[in-house]
Amino acid sequence: MRWTRSLVPTLREDPADALAVSHKLMVRAGLVRQLAAGIYVYLPLGQRVLDKINGILREEMNRIGGQEVTLPVLHPAEIWQQSGRWQAIGDEMFRLKDRNARDMCLGMTHEEVVAWIASKELRSYRDLPQVWYQIQTKERDEARPRSGVLRTREFLMKDSYTLDLDEAGLAKAYDAHREAYCRIFDRCGLRYYVVESDPGMMGGSGSHEFMAPSPSGEDEVAICERCAYAANVELARGVPPPPEFPDWKLEEVPTPNARTIAEVATLLGIAPSLAIKSLLYVAKTGPVLVLVRGDQTLHDKKLARVVGEFRPAHPDEVKAALGAPVGSVGPVGARVPIVADESLRDGLYVVGGNKEGFHLRGVRPGREFSCRFADLHVTQTGEGCGQCGAPLTVERVIEVGNIFKLGTKYSVSLGALVLDEGGQERPIVMGSYGIGPARIAAAAVEQRHDGDGIVWPWSIAPLHVHVLAVNTKDPEQGRTAEEIYQELLGAGFEVLFDDREERPGVKFKDADLIGLPIRITVGNALIKEGAVEVRSRKDRRDRRVPRRDVTVTVKELARELSAG
Ligand code: ATP
Ligand code: MG
Repeated sequence: MRWTRSLVPTLREDPADALAVSHKLMVRAGLVRQLAAGIYVYLPLGQRVLDKINGILREEMNRIGGQEVTLPVLHPAEIWQQSGRWQAIGDEMFRLKDRNARDMCLGMTHEEVVAWIASKELRSYRDLPQVWYQIQTKERDEARPRSGVLRTREFLMKDSYTLDLDEAGLAKAYDAHREAYCRIFDRCGLRYYVVESDPGMMGGSGSHEFMAPSPSGEDEVAICERCAYAANVELARGVPPPPEFPDWKLEEVPTPNARTIAEVATLLGIAPSLAIKSLLYVAKTGPVLVLVRGDQTLHDKKLARVVGEFRPAHPDEVKAALGAPVGSVGPVGARVPIVADESLRDGLYVVGGNKEGFHLRGVRPGREFSCRFADLHVTQTGEGCGQCGAPLTVERVIEVGNIFKLGTKYSVSLGALVLDEGGQERPIVMGSYGIGPARIAAAAVEQRHDGDGIVWPWSIAPLHVHVLAVNTKDPEQGRTAEEIYQELLGAGFEVLFDDREERPGVKFKDADLIGLPIRITVGNALIKEGAVEVRSRKDRRDRRVPRRDVTVTVKELARELSAG
């Protein structure tokens, strides 16, 4: 690839709106450009990275028996109505009408289409198992498209689907995918965790997420170093260290003007962990009083798993249900169902008195009021692991892939049935598995960069070698760089030849920014001693090698770098 004949628009400055490192660097290195919010153009270097990742995806999917297909982006509404997701999914789905006013949508995922094909084409247990995959554009009207290509409204996904006769078959297919995913992320040079996750809107019985640690991530995982427990914080069970409980008697204490936990704690001279936060929500079934320890935060998704959909109560609803204003409410005497966080099972606490300006001290959950306990709080670093008790670490991560045991939800609703060995009709048992190539690229940039630019792993670098001549005006340097470019192409390397008439500083900066694994510099050493510099981007170590040894040296270095 000759720079002067290519589109590699590098930039000196970060894009104004960019916060994530991968966003800044992928724009500056000329990989991508944003057309509109969450809609990106992949320029030649960006496209090459995607191609590399997609190549790895295909190899690993084929290795576990995957068959590549292409499912449409444009879907008729009917299949989504049959699965119930036409109603269940809100604004994230792009909907439109065709010229005959028929409802259509743009595919945000493809379980429905897969179940539809299965319903048409699979008849018997002999047709199973099947593994189908595609690398296809998905359209989702994301609420907050941001962080460059990490969350866009149009993006590529490798999605695969397994179809089996029974749970045992699904378990096997699921394990094969899990292993394939580990190979994929290893090969792409990512650090990642495999964590338990919440199946959410997909439904189904089990799921794992593949999480690449990065401060730009939007997810958090809790990791236990001792027993290897790892889970999305939406699910993670942490046990907060219990506070020292004073020897309180049950009594009412005046708390004038103290409404928040912090205010009450200061007034009473206690740690916030000795107070209970009482929050009134309205679920489908009516008002629910939710209790978490004063130093903790309620996790919305954890609560939703217990009470279903909910919203915060309005101040007048609080007054009506509990007879006290927000800030004074508590569980004692409350005539609404109460759900308390697990950490409140033991101990004596301060709670709102359901009377303006008063709290109750020495309240024991389960004694002064009855409630059900559930895990409701946001797990934090330092809490005990729910499995072994060792301290958990909470880390920010990018979700790069996930795997779901779907079960029969889609095959039942779309009629994907087969006859088993006994001639009985049975719904096909499905699994669904996703990976975002753009997220892999961005996560790799997040994990592998320095102050000057990207440090691509060999496997997904847009090209392998960057060749430049320091002084293009010097005919010998220019000619030698050209020869080296041709020689390396002949040896099978992917080479970016910076043949621009630019100042050396500009070329060096761009080479560091783009971050190809090997750089070859033809400069004054050539004139003085017939040598050129071969440098690896990773360690920035220069090797001065005789001109004739360039290709051999690059081959050696390539072996080293491609091994990890
Ligand atoms: P998230 O929770 O981040 O929204 P998701 O659970 O919606 O992700 P899936 O629908 O399971 O993700 O998609 C599978 C994979 O596709 C994800 O693991 C991720 O790599 C990628 N992906 C999902 N949404 C986006 C997006 N908006 N932009 C880029 N990649 C995405
Ligand atoms: Mg999503």
